Amino acid sequence: MRVNGVKSISPEEIYDCIGIGFGPSNIALAIALQEQNSLARVRFLEGRSETDWQPDMLLPGSDIQHNPLRDFVTPRNPRSPFGFLSYLHDQGRLLDFLRLEAPFPPRREYASYVKWVAAKFSHAVDYNASVTGIDLIDGPLRKPVYIIRCGSGKIYMANTISFGVGRSQNIPVQYQPYISARVIHSDNYLSTVKNWARDRSIGRIAVVGASQSAVEIILDLHSRLPEVAIACVSRGFGFKLKDVSPFTEKIYSPEFIDYFYSASEHSQSEMTRELWRSNYGAADHDVIASLDFLLYEQKVAGTNRVLLFDNQITESVEPLKGSGFELKLHDRHSEEPRVLQVDTIILATGYRNFGSSPDQERYHPLLRSLAPRFQYRSDGGLAISRDFRVLNEERYGELPPLFVNGLCESTHGFGDAGSFSLLATRSELIASSIGEHLCHNQFAITPEARLPRLAAGE
Ligand SMILES: Cc1cc2nc3c(=O)[nH]c(=O)nc-3n(C[C@H](O)[C@H](O)[C@H](O)COP(=O)(O)OP(=O)(O)OC[C@H]3O[C@@H](n4cnc5c(N)ncnc54)[C@H](O)[C@@H]3O)c2cc1C
Repeated sequence: MRVNGVKSISPEEIYDCIGIGFGPSNIALAIALQEQNSLARVRFLEGRSETDWQPDMLLPGSDIQHNPLRDFVTPRNPRSPFGFLSYLHDQGRLLDFLRLEAPFPPRREYASYVKWVAAKFSHAVDYNASVTGIDLIDGPLRKPVYIIRCGSGKIYMANTISFGVGRSQNIPVQYQPYISARVIHSDNYLSTVKNWARDRSIGRIAVVGASQSAVEIILDLHSRLPEVAIACVSRGFGFKLKDVSPFTEKIYSPEFIDYFYSASEHSQSEMTRELWRSNYGAADHDVIASLDFLLYEQKVAGTNRVLLFDNQITESVEPLKGSGFELKLHDRHSEEPRVLQVDTIILATGYRNFGSSPDQERYHPLLRSLAPRFQYRSDGGLAISRDFRVLNEERYGELPPLFVNGLCESTHGFGDAGSFSLLATRSELIASSIGEHLCHNQFAITPEARLPRLAAGE
């Protein structure tokens, strides 16, 4: 039998689970599955040639934004060999870290921790495996199974998926046609700015947004490209402080997820509005203070390399003859128009959650062919169960479990997309649900037929 170009399938060819993406969310799942002794028939597909964490934002002096012990596993299992303290001990840096006079470790160090853990699971990962399509086909026992296609042409089949590819970049619509080597998202900052440093034609850069990344990039550009003028364009009153009240921080707890998840959509959007600055459209005190100091020094010196354009709406973006761009802006409150000409643009405009507002998406583009089977909420975003499984429209037939790992902020609240804080508990829940589903449906290969379990690092 051939279905969709695939020969007849035997159960042995079907993975219990395919994890798409091997960033923090699915690394945490690999640890949870290993703890439950069920990693053997799971494979992770990662588009990069190796796991990396925010490689284009590993700026000198930048630190992480969460307690480092809220890592992949410690809140669930402090004895795990994959916790941040085990990493520090392994690197011979534990005592140095303990006397570090800084609230948070460097971002570079945490990226190296992420790689250290990922390397211990390399036996379970295919790198350079960029997934380009996901579909359903009839498997053995007439049950639908997922077919996952990679850019290389390689095909995988699975009874369940953990979809952990990270959120899509939020590119405001006016800028979308111009995304290029000269109009970039902050995700591509370091690798691009290194080229800009060699390009004498770049004298004016616009940084759009008021996020933590926007402030970090402005500071970095200021010291990295001393000849360049920087226009900071934001919709609000400049740069705001993150809400780091210990009471607000309670939102990064499983109890808050229960509370948020069971609230009405109306209440959820109220909570999201109220708590937005705990993670978005705001920056930490240290970088805000550094930027303010820089602007004051500039005033003392009578220079104006860094210029703030607050309360600005971008009406349009037009390419200039030759090179560069003209931004037509207007003030949100006075409506006064303004025209800004720049050579390059950096969009520190964040990422998209599920929903139907202009800075959201109904579902991730990779899920397009499955999208008609999904259930949607009245806000237009995906309907997802408490254990992170996409809910389906029964009239379109069965949808094997599709866990959305690290994209569920709209349904599960803060901490469920842009944060490490809840990885340890979320991954445990997903791992248990995968196990339960496979047992219940007797999909899993019997234990005797399983591949021998590899110890971490083998
Ligand atoms: C600059 C920056 C700093 C941050 N700092 C912090 C912090 O200090 N603390 C904190 O809690 N959170 C921080 N965050 C939030 C951070 O995004 C999350 O903590 C974490 O990276 C989310 O992990 P993830 O695995 O869900 O997504 P990602 O980290 O985005 O990983 C997704 C993985 O999937 C892979 N992938 C994507 N598409 C495909 C495909 N089609 N096929 C195969 N593989 C694919 C990617 O290559 C990537 O490896 C920061 C975010 C940014 C942008």
